Amino acid sequence: MFFKKDPRTEALLEMALKQVEKMLREMTSDGKDLAKLKLKKYQKTHYTDCLCPKCNIAKKKNNPHLRGLLEEGFKVYVGEGGGEED
Ligand SMILES: [Zn+2]
Repeated sequence: MFFKKDPRTEALLEMALKQVEKMLREMTSDGKDLAKLKLKKYQKTHYTDCLCPKCNIAKKKNNPHLRGLLEEGFKVYVGEGGGEED
């Protein structure tokens, strides 16, 4: 697979990584053990009764992954939990 580096993406990535690093450093200074660090991707999709075009297609194809997205990202956390507290 051909992966081209886009300067704008690279700059955004660098900024994002700096923010993540700052948060992780704050966690370590709060005494958190980063050896227990976990990363988890998550997605919040539209509600099951949503009637937007994306959700309609998802319903027709019976594939919930095609539903409209409210938010998408990842969680960085330490500890035993699954990161599902909200
Ligand atoms: Zn929808």
